[in-house]
Amino acid sequence: MNKVAKFGGSSLADAVQFRKVAAIVKGDPDRRVIIVSACGKSVVEREKVTDLLYRLYACIQGDRGYEEIWESIVNRYVTIRDELGMVCDIESELVGIYNRLEKDVSVEWLVSRGEYLCSLLMAEYLGYSFIDATKVLFFHEDGILDREKSKYALGKILEDHCGIVIPGFYGAFPNGEIHTLGRGGSDVSGSMIADLMEAELYENWSDVSGIFMVDPRIIPEAVKCSHISYQKVRELSHLGANILHEDTIFPLLSRNISLVIRNTNAPQDPGTLVTAQEIDPCEICGITGKKGYSLLRVYKEELSIENDWLLTIANTLRELPVSIEYIRNSIDHYTIVFKEVECIDTLLSSLPDNYEHIHSLAILGIVGNTLEPRRIERALASLHDSEIEVYYSSQDPHTSTCIFLVNDRQLEDAIRILYYAFLG
Ligand code: ASP
Repeated sequence: MNKVAKFGGSSLADAVQFRKVAAIVKGDPDRRVIIVSACGKSVVEREKVTDLLYRLYACIQGDRGYEEIWESIVNRYVTIRDELGMVCDIESELVGIYNRLEKDVSVEWLVSRGEYLCSLLMAEYLGYSFIDATKVLFFHEDGILDREKSKYALGKILEDHCGIVIPGFYGAFPNGEIHTLGRGGSDVSGSMIADLMEAELYENWSDVSGIFMVDPRIIPEAVKCSHISYQKVRELSHLGANILHEDTIFPLLSRNISLVIRNTNAPQDPGTLVTAQEIDPCEICGITGKKGYSLLRVYKEELSIENDWLLTIANTLRELPVSIEYIRNSIDHYTIVFKEVECIDTLLSSLPDNYEHIHSLAILGIVGNTLEPRRIERALASLHDSEIEVYYSSQDPHTSTCIFLVNDRQLEDAIRILYYAFLG
């Protein structure tokens, strides 16, 4: 079977994790194409290499010393190499990077070095060939993948190599400069590669055994989904569930490539299978949430009979150049839910007097398949009984997703209450 296996940062945090990855890769001869993240966190390592690199960049720009950060980065890679008894000359790679640490260094290039170095080590450890992502993922100037050029390049590489390791998170612009795919972007690299090589399966290995109905840090005994659809994964990710980068699904759609989420620390677990269709859809797929939102309610008498009510709302939005999540209008007011920004007071001062602004809210979402209205009523009643105020709610019968706005500090409690209301 044609497979792509992507390993996230926690699977590459140290030499112990590298050994687990190697055992997984060697356990299946179909695992020939490996995508890796940068070294992530572990019990000992408190910071992801990518975070260190972003901090390093900020220090360079702010004319602050960065020797300590640099030392931490060097130590991570040299220790892994030494503990695994490898010979690769990672020092000269590191010196090459260090010599480019000037003010005009490109941030995208610098932060992508975490994946680059990690792949060099993993390639040697597996006995696979290292293929830089700039030789495989080619992007147009607007950041869209040049699919044809990339597919051709990958095809040629696969003809010549038995096993390859490609750094995730970046590729190349037409001028050869690095283009990064956003935080968590290695997930997207994996699905792009899976699409380009027409894989049947994309394995995404991390430190969780699949998708749970609720974050197990909130409810340790939360039920796991054995099978979920692409669409539901997108919705859950968008609503704050820490599963996959939101864009991971797109490259898989046209060929219906199955994705499986598996745990490097528990490779015997079958994980969660993600496909175009859901088999045996359960009533709810997940309950999740994200913090840091504001609600703005602007009052305008008889708004609903104004012909240009949409224009009225559009004018407010122009004053509020913020990331909008939801908009709703009713007879004489309209409501906008948006991501909080620091300059909100200045923005609000440009609005008419008759508005209400509620800040420090969280979006709480129930992503369902067959959510019946009476179940939503029961959920609302449980929140009410636990004195959790709901500032906004909406249900989309088409997607069966239901949204509530609650106080930031009550989000985890609200998730617990809803979980037991549905599954208790
Ligand atoms: N290393 C990058 C990050 O931490 C990309 C990734 O891991 O997917 O965001």
